[in-house]
Amino acid sequence: MHPMLKPALRRAWRGRNTVQFGVTPAHAVTLGPMDIATGSFLELLDGSRGLSMLREEARALDLSDRHVDVLVARLTAAGLLDDPKAGGPEAEALRQRAEALDRQRPDAASLSVVHPAPGSGLRRLAARRGMRVQVRGAGRVGAAIAAVLSASGVGQVDVLDGGRTEPWDVAPGGLPAAAVGERRDTAARQLVRRSAVAGAARTPAPARTPEPARTPESARMSVGGDPALSLVVVAPRDGLSAYVPDPDAAAPWIVSGTPHLYAGVIEATGVVGPLVLPGGTGCAGCLALHRAERDPQWPRMLAQWRSGRRTTVPACDLGLATAVAGLAAAHALSFLDGELPASTGARWEAALPLLDWRSDRLGPHTDCDCGAAGRTEGELTSASGPAQDTMAG
Ligand SMILES: [Zn+2]
Repeated sequence: MHPMLKPALRRAWRGRNTVQFGVTPAHAVTLGPMDIATGSFLELLDGSRGLSMLREEARALDLSDRHVDVLVARLTAAGLLDDPKAGGPEAEALRQRAEALDRQRPDAASLSVVHPAPGSGLRRLAARRGMRVQVRGAGRVGAAIAAVLSASGVGQVDVLDGGRTEPWDVAPGGLPAAAVGERRDTAARQLVRRSAVAGAARTPAPARTPEPARTPESARMSVGGDPALSLVVVAPRDGLSAYVPDPDAAAPWIVSGTPHLYAGVIEATGVVGPLVLPGGTGCAGCLALHRAERDPQWPRMLAQWRSGRRTTVPACDLGLATAVAGLAAAHALSFLDGELPASTGARWEAALPLLDWRSDRLGPHTDCDCGAAGRTEGELTSASGPAQDTMAG
């Protein structure tokens, strides 16, 4: 081990003998009491020294070997230590791809703050390369989500949409002005490729030559040789389908157990969530049943909203669309990294002009055949993180 204090956390003395690591309450830790010699010793924890060398240099500061071992153990337990060599073979492979890692240094630093064990941040960043996400919709929200996921190291991002790019689909971070008139799916594919971290994008694997299974992620191969879908992001150009998700469209994902996340802008409201874990959290069907119970006129209105062809351009504030895309992508990445973000079984909404984000829990409905109502939250958390289980795609 080559202990290194996580550089992502700022360090400050809080009074004379307590050190605070980190600024914000979410990840800040204080450690004390700490004498001056120990404080000086902290400077040595920069990842360049192994434990034996650290003990040796500590003796020059009149610190015993035991003192060093206890301190290193405490720092590790507090999630403050990283190790520039830890994280396993995938993390090591990422370190070898210097150009890719340089692009992702801030992401690696962020993951090091979130995941306490030495090397676990980089291991999770590297694992994204083996994941496959499908984004449905290539408008202002969907295309930007796909670009962010690709630039965050997700190995395969497929975007589905029809028709040709319209001038109002163009957005910074999304489809460029040059794509107007091109097929949306082609333009989105190019966007994903351009956004990808160097060397991270997979070229579609030829059928029947799956890579050797090295990780749980790459072990989840579907028949054709592509990895199974880790996640579907539903980000339709018409935000109504994100705000009122269609149970029929979601049925195949419920059957296959594919997690899916809704995001979009409708009128002047931005929506992120729910992230649906099939059989674990409330789905589009549960949502429809709850809604109809609360508002018996809702299904009648929904039928009117859905009927007929809309010819007007849907309202969509660019700032709100960009915020929704960024937040949805961050929730997706948190899930892909093995966590259950706050959109799990809940929906976040912000409406112009105040943009106050609020969340609504969307529980399972007992009449829905997705089966989520029979489960407890405990079962849900142990059975649905992508890091642990083997979901079919
Ligand atoms: Zn349901």
